[in-house]
Amino acid sequence: MIYLDNNATTQIDDRVLEVMLPYLKENFANPSSMYDIAKRPAAAIREARVQIRDFLGAKNEKDVYFTSCGSESANMAIKGVVECNKEKKHLITTKVEHPCVMNTYKQLEKQGYEVDYIGVNSQGGLDVEELKSKLRKDTALVSVMWANNETGVIHPVEEIADYIKSKSPETRFFVDAVQAAGKIPMNVKDTNIDLLGISGHKFHAPKGVGALYVKPDVRILPLINGGHQERGMRAGTENVAYIAGMGKAAELAQGALDYELSEVKRLRDKLEAGILKNVFNARLNTAVSGRVPNTTNIGFEYVEGELILLHLNDIGVCASSGSACTSGSLEPSHVLRAMGIPFTALHGSIRFSLSRFTTEKEVDFVVENMPAIMEKLTKISPFQDELEKLKELK
Ligand SMILES: *Cc1c(COP(=O)(O)O)cnc(C)c1O
Repeated sequence: MIYLDNNATTQIDDRVLEVMLPYLKENFANPSSMYDIAKRPAAAIREARVQIRDFLGAKNEKDVYFTSCGSESANMAIKGVVECNKEKKHLITTKVEHPCVMNTYKQLEKQGYEVDYIGVNSQGGLDVEELKSKLRKDTALVSVMWANNETGVIHPVEEIADYIKSKSPETRFFVDAVQAAGKIPMNVKDTNIDLLGISGHKFHAPKGVGALYVKPDVRILPLINGGHQERGMRAGTENVAYIAGMGKAAELAQGALDYELSEVKRLRDKLEAGILKNVFNARLNTAVSGRVPNTTNIGFEYVEGELILLHLNDIGVCASSGSACTSGSLEPSHVLRAMGIPFTALHGSIRFSLSRFTTEKEVDFVVENMPAIMEKLTKISPFQDELEKLKELK
């Protein structure tokens, strides 16, 4: 099996699992309890908070709140800010956010908020000038993802944060950093970012744990009320094992960042260049630069993405198509549509996302096998004349 879908989820690092196991076995006590055996789980949470602080480059571990996932972090940030600033009724986000941000905004829009959705160019780059022009004094919140999950395109969130701070200091800025964590350097304390979310399972921790960074002077209302956990900001007995695992995963990701930026990038570039060279109907859907090092999104013209995935699956390769299956109909991805990817490539776009566990042999295998798959699929495409023209152009 060759796993090239690391933006969907990642395998748990063995060293992460090792850290977790004691808290699923003998160290099971509730970290809030008074007796001695509760001290270990309590210490594990403290250590993880420090590890996440260092991973994000936050000033203080108190600025880190543990959540159940990246989606919860986004909901806690967005709803938490909005609930705290009821008089401000304007919101800004982008057209390419993950559903956990997009659908939260859509719900707020239904509840009467005015929302501006900022567009991207044909290569996925955010229209920052448009965003700046939409910012108002009554803008409660701006949300921009640091890196896009489908294309890997990096958005200039630090520049946007500075602009918001200078023009409308009361406006809050949330960054979905789920796809940036472990792939590019992050140092929130040197930025004007107010809130930032990450998810453990995107950097080799298990699914079901995440974190939200909240800048000290930023007030939000909690999403989950109850006990005093997370300083009253997120109730519920802590998921100790998973929190400890995510802490360890953050430490490992921090240590592997140089490898990610050099070796994972080299393998991604090799995969990308190999496919673009060997497959006549392949086109890169993004710019070459300005992306996280592990992701490539390639459009295969006049071919169905789902068929490509099935053929890749047959040879043991896991990748992803841009399309999300919505209520039974195969709709092309909102991200690629916002980019205006031509319909000829829209339905045949495939995302390959690597990790530090990806090997050169795996990349070579995919590059070698892609032409044969495309040979088969272009033969059954109804667009023979167009494909013939493409072939001549190549
Ligand atoms: C995966 C992902 C999320 C959601 O994280 P979960 O932990 O699965 O809820 C949010 N944003 C982006 C960009 C993602 O890739």
